Amino acid sequence: MMIDIILLGSAGLVPLADRALTAALLACSGRKILFDCGEGTQIAARRKGLDLLDVDLIALTHYHGDHTFGLPGLMLTMASIGRREPLYITGPRGLEEAVDPFLRLADWATFEIKLFDLMPEGLRLSEWFQGWPKGAKLTAFKTEHRVSSQGYLFSLDQEKDSLIESQKSQEQIQRSLRFVFSGDTMACDSLIEASRDADLVIYDATYGRNDQAQTAIDHGHMNFAQAAETAHKAGAKRLWLAHYAQTIKNPEDDLPNARAIFENTECGVDGLTRSLSFETEAFSGLSAETSGDFGNVGSLGNLSGTYTRG
Ligand SMILES: [Zn+2]
Ligand SMILES: [Zn+2]
Repeated sequence: MMIDIILLGSAGLVPLADRALTAALLACSGRKILFDCGEGTQIAARRKGLDLLDVDLIALTHYHGDHTFGLPGLMLTMASIGRREPLYITGPRGLEEAVDPFLRLADWATFEIKLFDLMPEGLRLSEWFQGWPKGAKLTAFKTEHRVSSQGYLFSLDQEKDSLIESQKSQEQIQRSLRFVFSGDTMACDSLIEASRDADLVIYDATYGRNDQAQTAIDHGHMNFAQAAETAHKAGAKRLWLAHYAQTIKNPEDDLPNARAIFENTECGVDGLTRSLSFETEAFSGLSAETSGDFGNVGSLGNLSGTYTRG
């Protein structure tokens, strides 16, 4: 079983010709979650040959325009192909108020749009959506930006009963795959906690230079070094930098500032892709069962509002 992570964009605030606004797509067993949706996110996906029209869930980190203004356009495209499945959108406090103008624009939608809050214990995706593995879970955690904000941890646990006897004694077995999308945030303890031992983290890295550390804090962002420090403290395995200010012409120029602290840092670029899989090959396939129990799809925890349009 695998998780594919695709960084759709790496720009902060202003999209550039070769740099779309920061967003990421997670795909697992044919199901998808989109993290943030700025202007041009659907175009960035198309450029990669990816389809966002069947995403189950859009997870917004906060409501600044560079993370949300792509919603009406994406919903229009979904409607134009006649999507029928409900679209779920989650985000931090203030979701309904923030997204309502977009939903008003989307009065032609052919599908239901359901807004919901993630419970602290996280969301077992197979209980809500068809096709997700039983061990797949999405959790939100608080981040520190200038507005209400949260980051996301996606984890995929290995199903214990899927291991065969001879494998149970192998200590190198990795029990869970972990991916973190920070959204806009300054360095903070909750981000470190959520990123513990993560296989891949995508972090806000708005500023490149070390002498921009205070500027980053003042604006609720990180510079490359602060992102690297956070990944290092968390014991993450790999860091992708993203959300570059437009003043960063070539992120690679500042990459040494991060690598000096956390070697396994890469500059995120649009379309950068990585597949995460359980280290022991024997498990993939054996643990790829998906839940057939969707009896609870009607009871969705804390729906903060259900919108039906069209
Ligand atoms: Zn931003
Ligand atoms: Zn922001």
